[in-house]
Amino acid sequence: MHIPTLIEKKRDGACLEDREIAGLIGAYSTGGVPDYQMSAFAMAVFFRGMSDGETAALTAAMRDSGRVFRWPEGSPPKVDKHSTGGIGDKVSLVLAPLLACDSLWVPMVSGRGLGITGGTLDKLESIPGFNVHLDEAACLRQIEKIGVFMAGQTEDFCPADKRLYALRDVTATVPSRPLIIASIMSKKLAESLDRLVLDVKFGSGAFMQTRQDAELLAAGLSAAGKNNGVRTSFLLSPMDEPLGRTVGNALEVREAVETLQGRGPDDLVNITLDLAAAVSDTPRDVLAKRLRDGSAWRKFLALVEAQGGNPRVFDDLASFHPAPVIRPLLSPQDGTLLSLDAGRMGRAAVELGAGRHKTTDAIDPAVGFSGLKKTGEPVAKGEPVLWIHAASESAATTAAKAVQFQVQ
Ligand code: URA
Repeated sequence: MHIPTLIEKKRDGACLEDREIAGLIGAYSTGGVPDYQMSAFAMAVFFRGMSDGETAALTAAMRDSGRVFRWPEGSPPKVDKHSTGGIGDKVSLVLAPLLACDSLWVPMVSGRGLGITGGTLDKLESIPGFNVHLDEAACLRQIEKIGVFMAGQTEDFCPADKRLYALRDVTATVPSRPLIIASIMSKKLAESLDRLVLDVKFGSGAFMQTRQDAELLAAGLSAAGKNNGVRTSFLLSPMDEPLGRTVGNALEVREAVETLQGRGPDDLVNITLDLAAAVSDTPRDVLAKRLRDGSAWRKFLALVEAQGGNPRVFDDLASFHPAPVIRPLLSPQDGTLLSLDAGRMGRAAVELGAGRHKTTDAIDPAVGFSGLKKTGEPVAKGEPVLWIHAASESAATTAAKAVQFQVQ
């Protein structure tokens, strides 16, 4: 297979055959196609798009780049949720243990930060010792014991997405419908799920800027699930302001812990319950009780311990990755918060070190934003609209200039 010819074909807007897509992805997964060619291919897809047939072939090829989970006969229903990506979106950290309080299995395979959005794996890795690199045997052992694992793609499991995801993150090729569908659904189909709920976001802090684009994405994701025998539903959710009151890896883990202890912000609690109720057999009010009565929190602690994390770090949340500089951003006037732009905050968080510029960049778990006011809340002149957590004074100053909010 001559890779430049395939890139050229897509660049010029032609449709690729299934065998061409399978050949490209197969070769990429095993190191036979270098990142520079795959970057060019991703950019060609970004501009030219893919037909439904090509998208289905890409999804299948990425799923089949590794192993597909085979669950024991008679095991409980396998359920999961996936978000198309947002700012301050720490829902998975709360939802996975919440769902696992029931006799359901939650085999959650997540991603790292992508573009301006945060990633569940980066958040989990801010917990000292937490291991996201589980092989199939370890996943099975853990899910049989506690009903949940949270892991990343590996060389065995969706290796094509492992590589392409990291490449898209740093080549401005994330907001492409076929690439998002194939990335998400290859992982979810390889999990061999019974039920899946998708959180499809739109707005300045999402990859789909408009509700209409999000609807198209949701339709494509749902079709991929249903065509492969997975009961798939979705929520469309706005992402014009960050979710909850924190943005940044360790800061979001702190907020997830507070939510699991029954002290979460309303928007985070509500969307978590809406999504959980879509795949659970348990009514929403009972799920809500499990967030309040400590059941989901105990399950989260079991998850952290099972994956090598140290749960003692949650005894004192204030000392969980404190940043060297913590500085408020003050409101210039009395009024109501009208907007706090999620897209600008996502970019500012990446600049602070919460995301990557190159695939090899390390994440700074401590940096980000906390104490966010929510739109519609009153704010007094001189009161913090949020707190900036930065590695240096100059980084905090840059972030303060990047964040955009409106009080009136
Ligand atoms: N989540 C993924 O796993 N992939 C994407 O492309 C976007 C969100």
